[in-house]
Formats: sequence, C-alpha cells, structure tokens
Amino acid sequence: MLQLRRKGRRIGFVPTMGALHDGHLSLILYARRESDIVVAGIFVNPLQFGPKEDFKKYPRPKAEDERLLKKEGVDYLFHPEVSGMYPKGKPLVFVDVDPSLVNVLCGEFRPGHFRGVATVVAKLFEIVKPTDVFFGAKDYQQGVVVRRLIEDLNMDIRFHLCPTVREKDGLAMSSRNRYLSAKERRRAREISATLFWLRDQILYARKESDSLKKAALRRLRKAVDRIDYLEIVDPETLQPLTRFQSKRVIATACLVGKTRLIDNVIIDPLFPKKIHKKEGSS
Ligand code: AMP
Repeated sequence: MLQLRRKGRRIGFVPTMGALHDGHLSLILYARRESDIVVAGIFVNPLQFGPKEDFKKYPRPKAEDERLLKKEGVDYLFHPEVSGMYPKGKPLVFVDVDPSLVNVLCGEFRPGHFRGVATVVAKLFEIVKPTDVFFGAKDYQQGVVVRRLIEDLNMDIRFHLCPTVREKDGLAMSSRNRYLSAKERRRAREISATLFWLRDQILYARKESDSLKKAALRRLRKAVDRIDYLEIVDPETLQPLTRFQSKRVIATACLVGKTRLIDNVIIDPLFPKKIHKKEGSS
C-alpha cells in the first residue's frame, strides 16, 4: 500500500465489524468514487466491547460478507484474527480520548468503548496506510473521535463522513437489527420517527426548547424499553446545546428488548457534502 501511496494512488479504507448491510456497502460506494483502490476491513474488536456486551454473539457471516464485498468490487479485504491484531494479548499502550468527547452520549454508557475504538482504528490505519477513510454518520460520536484522532495525531488521511442508510420505514440499518423480534422491529421504527419529528419541530420553532425534548422523550418512551439518552448537541464538541445554533446533532440510544440501538439526525445545511466523481470516470 505504501508503494501505491507513493505513486500518488488514493487508497480508500472502509473499516467495519462485518455482518454487512447496505449501510456498509454505501461506504464502499463512496470509497470507490473517491479512491483508486478500495480496502474493506472486517474486525470485531474485543477492546471496544464491555464485559456484559455482545462480543461473543456478534454476528460473523464470513462467506456472505466476502461475497458482498466481491460483488461491490472491493480490491482488498483486511480480515485479521484477534491474535493477529493483539499478538501479545491486551495492549499496554492505548489511544486515549479526552473525557469531553467520551463522557457524553454513548461514551457515558459504554466506559472504555471509544478508547478501544480509537486504539484499533489507529492500528488499522497504520497497517492499511489509507489516504482516505470512510465512516458512517450513523455512529456519529465515533466519527467525531476518529476525525480528531486523525487531526490531533497529524495523520495524513482524509476523513469522509457518509450519510446514514435507512430501512424503508426509517430505521437506521445496523448489524444489530437482526437481533430484533418482529414485534420489537415494529417498535424500533419509532426511534427515527421521533428524531425526525424533533428535528422538524426545532427547525420550525427555530429554538431549542425543553418542552420539545420532553415531548420527544414521552413519544419514545411509549415504544422502547429504555432510553439511555436523547440529546441535542454541538456537532464538534458533542456538548448539549441550550441555545439556538444552525448546526446541531440530535442523538439517541435506546434499548428495544435486549438490543441497544443508536441513531441521530444531523442538522447542517452543508451535510451531506456532495461527493464528486473522480476526474475521467464516467
Ligand atoms: P460497524 O460494522 O457497525 O462497526 O460499522 C462500520 C462502519 O459502517 C461505521 O463507519 C459505521 O458508522 C458505518 N455504518 C453502520 N451502519 C450504517 C448505516 N446504516 N448507514 C451508513 N453507515 C453505517
């Protein structure tokens, strides 16, 4: 990869945990448009799972994932074993993320998660040596952490945040959706419906109002089994907003049955940025 990089080729990298769906495949499509060579990564990273989380039961449909990536025209697949990524067991050096970014939203409920993410992402970038990386807006906080990782550690990498791909009824696609029973699946649609409702109310009222948030919480509470958070935050600092500003992210994490689902909507006139086709491509 280093040689290709030196020749001026753009190497697009899409790291995932596998169990691929159209959300992942859309990242591949963006990567293909923006780069000469596309590398997909599949690695279920133990470092970012808590002791009571689903690391062991996380779906790993290897053959189907490989078939999908081939069909999408991915050039390389990096699919290491845990022992390949962590040959000495638990690492002694980690990438630490400032509490201001990780003591909020998901980080508050998943201690150590973003430290695990930042560490594995730094390792993957070091191994694959991409010029461009593609992450989904669905995991918004992760995107912010990775963007800061690249900036703060002076990595020579372009970061691309790509829009969330949804099911027809609005549910954000996720590898974890397959855990939902039919009844839970029907209830889960209220998550995105509530976020879009709240966005429309905020845009219409042009103010952050506690009563709007309370109404959204009431609506969501009827459908889901637990709400970890529903916050309106600054897109860069992730701190809760109290006053009106034009760019905002509304983010939530909820439990439906035993499945934890996250979603967000980005209020930003410039998102998603239009990605132009490479020069010379048809
Ligand atoms: P994961 O396999 O869940 O770790 O996700 C790998 C990458 O795919 C991350 O950058 C996610 O943000 C992205 N991703 C997951 N679901 C979606 C979705 N529904 N739409 C767009 N990107 C997604």
